Parts: sequence; structure tokens; C-alpha cells
Amino acid sequence: MFLVPFVPPLARGTKPFIPSSHNIINHTLYPNLYPSLFCSRNKLSQIGLFNTGGSEMAYEEAIAALTKLLSEKADLGDIAAAKIKQLTADLEADASKPFNPDGRILTGFAHFKTEKFQKNPDLYGELAKGQSPKFLVFACSDSRVCPSHVLDFQPGEAFVVRNIANMVPPYDKTKYSGTGAAIEYAVLHLKVENIVVVGHSCCGGIKGLMSIPDDGTTASEFIENWVQICTPAKSKVKSDASVSEFSDQCTNCEKEAVNVSLGNLLTYPFVRDAVVKKTLFLKGAHYNFVKGTFDLWDLDFKICASVYV
Ligand SMILES: [Zn+2]
Repeated sequence: MFLVPFVPPLARGTKPFIPSSHNIINHTLYPNLYPSLFCSRNKLSQIGLFNTGGSEMAYEEAIAALTKLLSEKADLGDIAAAKIKQLTADLEADASKPFNPDGRILTGFAHFKTEKFQKNPDLYGELAKGQSPKFLVFACSDSRVCPSHVLDFQPGEAFVVRNIANMVPPYDKTKYSGTGAAIEYAVLHLKVENIVVVGHSCCGGIKGLMSIPDDGTTASEFIENWVQICTPAKSKVKSDASVSEFSDQCTNCEKEAVNVSLGNLLTYPFVRDAVVKKTLFLKGAHYNFVKGTFDLWDLDFKICASVYV
């Protein structure tokens, strides 16, 4: 039996994305919407990474000075790293001071730059030329489940979409254009070979879905409407009479919702075509950060060749 998918009027070419002038918003029209990109240039000196001798040093000057110092004395790299470590410890230890978001961000970047960027010139040199990730990953926005952290993805390995409860909505150019754009770019332009949807334990989004009353009453502006993408998973879990504990139902729904998302991926014609051609594989996963476990599975779709009418 041949399944006849809906074929939208999509451009199916594989030309690289080239932003046109039409895509560039004129900032002068919206002066209050965009913060200055250059307003924080002196903040590295403010948090003490650079001794500016009482005068504020421009960001470029500070970077140039540090680069010059590092080139003159190799052991200064260790000194800089020690200083950053000390600064980080000071920031974390002094609980009496209010949290300094700028300091945290800039200290984090300084650590990344000395410990990773400058120590892996080959990797970052290649990434400067382009990206060729093998994975498109859907993960939850939950701060505990960063896929690059959990799966040790290095820069360039995974094109990542994160949203509430790691859901893939069905093809809809109006309601879900953001997700569609990410999938289209990853599949048609980056030509990823795998799409992985990663659910996780204690997911608040799934708990929210499971908590929506049967009459469909919702109280949130966006959240409940979004998570209802995976209502079929909720229905399946609720119909299983052998699981009555709400927490167990939520755990099962975290996994079933992944399967619903995998099914939804097939509503995108370019995904479906690639899966049929076996140039793209869909995988489900569940990360349990309580137990420290990770489950990975393939979904056995019964897919026939597409017939366009
Ligand atoms: Zn979550």
C-alpha cells in the first residue's frame, strides 16, 4: 500500500541559504528593540581580567595586550588560567554579593577561550570555514539536559533545537515555522544523517501536558497549547490501566511523546524522502538525570515509497 503524503509547495533544491537584503531588519526603524552590540566591551576589565591601570581599556586593546603577553611568555597561559580560576572561585564564594550576571557570562567566556578555543586551533579553524554536523537534536529547554553536555558533542557535531518538552510539531507553515525552518535547514542544507529526539526525566512540560484536565481547560498563554502537540502520547499513557501512579504515567509519557515527535517528523516531506532513501535516520532517546541513564531507540516505521499526485 502506498501512502500519499501531503506535498506542500516547497522549494526542494539544495542551494545553500543566502540571506538577502530583504532578510535584514533595518535597526533604525526599531531603535529601542535592539541593544547595542558594543555596550559591554569594557566589562572584561570591570571584572578584573585585565589590569587597565585605572583607565578603561578598549576590549580590542585588552585582547591584543593579552595575546601579546601570551605570545611572549608561554607560561603566562597558566597564569591567566589560574587568575580566571581564582576569579571564578571568588565569584562563587562571595554569597553576600548579589549575583553578577555580566561577570558570570564574561568569566565563562574567558575560561572557554583560554581552555578550549586557544587550545584547539585546528578544530576552531575548521569550524570557521563551515559546519557539517551529523546530528539534528531535539532536546528540552530544561537547564539540566543540555545535549552537548550530556552527550559530549563537540562544536560542529550537532545542530540543536531546544524547546519545552523537546517536541517536534507536525508540518505547519503558519503555526510552527520556526521548527520547520530548523528541520529544513538541517536536512536539506546541512544534510544531517540523524535526527535524535531526546526526552528526559522529571520533565515539567510533560507533567504540564499530563495535568491538563479532560475538559481541555488551560490557564497559560502558550505552554499548554504547545505541549498538546503530544496529546496522542498522553492518551496512550492514560489508556494503560496497569500504570496508575501519576509520576509513572509522566515517565511513560516522556518516552511516548518522543515517539509522537518522531512520527511528526515524517509529516515534513523532505524528512520523509530522506528516510525512505536511507540517507536520514530517526532516533528516540530518554535521559534520566536522577538515575544517570540514557536509553536510545530506533522507531520501526513502515514506510512505503512516496507517491505524489
Ligand atoms: Zn523537559
